[in-house]
Amino acid sequence: MNGADDRVLIVGAGPVGLCLALKLAQLGVASAVFEQLADENFLDQVPRAGTNHPATLEMYDDIGLYKRLEPRGIIAPLFQYWDRAKGEMIAEFDHAVLKDDTRFAFALQCERIKIVEEALAMAKDNPLIDVRMATEFVGFSQDADGVTALVKNPGGETEAVRGRYIVSAEGARSIVRKECGIEFEGFTYADRTLNIEVAYDFKQHGYTDRNYISDPEEWSNLFHWKGPPERWRVHFPTKPEEEPEALMAPEAMQKRLQGFLATGRPFNIVGCNLYTVHQRVAENFRVGRALLAGDSAHVNSPIGGMGLNSGVHDAFNLAEKLAAIWRGETDESVLDRYERQRRHIAVEHTQLQTIRNKKLLQEKDPAVRQKNHDELRRAASDPKLAREFLLRSALINSVREAAQIP
Ligand SMILES: Cc1cc2nc3c(=O)[nH]c(=O)nc-3n(C[C@H](O)[C@H](O)[C@H](O)COP(=O)(O)OP(=O)(O)OC[C@H]3O[C@@H](n4cnc5c(N)ncnc54)[C@H](O)[C@@H]3O)c2cc1C
Repeated sequence: MNGADDRVLIVGAGPVGLCLALKLAQLGVASAVFEQLADENFLDQVPRAGTNHPATLEMYDDIGLYKRLEPRGIIAPLFQYWDRAKGEMIAEFDHAVLKDDTRFAFALQCERIKIVEEALAMAKDNPLIDVRMATEFVGFSQDADGVTALVKNPGGETEAVRGRYIVSAEGARSIVRKECGIEFEGFTYADRTLNIEVAYDFKQHGYTDRNYISDPEEWSNLFHWKGPPERWRVHFPTKPEEEPEALMAPEAMQKRLQGFLATGRPFNIVGCNLYTVHQRVAENFRVGRALLAGDSAHVNSPIGGMGLNSGVHDAFNLAEKLAAIWRGETDESVLDRYERQRRHIAVEHTQLQTIRNKKLLQEKDPAVRQKNHDELRRAASDPKLAREFLLRSALINSVREAAQIP
């Protein structure tokens, strides 16, 4: 293969594509990253992920990204479960019990948009990463020596770009996945989630930076984001038949917020969006020289903040294996191990845990609710049980378990 083409082609400059490019570069492997958005509109993306768990913070730190994110985020050692009907906190978990498991005994509340802004700046500065903005990936082919990606460059012309492997980090609508004929198995929830951003200090009511609020009629999540202006994001379920315009009408959102917390004064709403939640995992993460990572390989409900985190874990796992191939230490079969390890985690950890998280918050049976709440209280009040709970929710267990899979 021609020296300049001896690189990894990465589709998508989301958190997964950029972390992959940065980790590969650290290991001496060149890449080209194709991003359909241009510099001018890259930061206009809708608000999404934001809770970064300890296992992910260790990875950010490894590539020098953490130190750029910490000043832009909120260090959040605590998270709470609440019972909305009773207006009381059920349980509070403190990451401090993980002090012997990780040097990051906290989550970092730092939005996806800040992560990609910082990671993109680092990627552009790295001579081993060729970042191509305003470049839309449209298809690819592969042969015995490598892959050819077809991209529409900023001038609107179609260009063929060669590389040794292609990684789809292009999100849930992955063209690579579709072209490989890989099934995206799972289901889509009928109820969409309404996200409302407000400038209001919820801490005065006892909430911490991350809160999961259970309610048989209207569960919610409440998260704090660093400003300026300081913002809180509240997630609500909606009925499938409700129209987006009606759901996002200012008076309807005020009514919903007052139902959640009656302050008697209108909330300062600074943004809103509505999203559909899928629980799906790709049947395969690899077809020859094409690999899937992040949302193109698996999608899940955001309750528990696991999508971006587990996608970044895919990126690091894959980068290490690709780099070992580059160094001639192993053959391509190591990429099947990537699929075995990361697909197992997607199915057995991320899917199960996020489906369980949603069920827990929306449970209607009073006896089951009581039992769930008692279990949470017991786990939070016993340091051994709390550590076990947090090792799972902080995704430390999933990284350890993946490493054991041959
Ligand atoms: C409301 C909400 C809250 C969430 N909260 C959390 C949370 O707290 N924690 C968590 O871990 N996860 C959370 N998630 C999930 C998280 O946002 C995703 O898992 C994560 O963004 C996936 O990253 P990615 O890099 O795989 O894909 P994406 O973030 O979707 O990035 C894909 C990139 O590829 C580009 N692209 C797409 N198609 C093409 C193409 N054809 N050509 C070139 N470029 C292309 C896109 O423009 C984009 O830049 C949340 C999701 C939602 C909706």
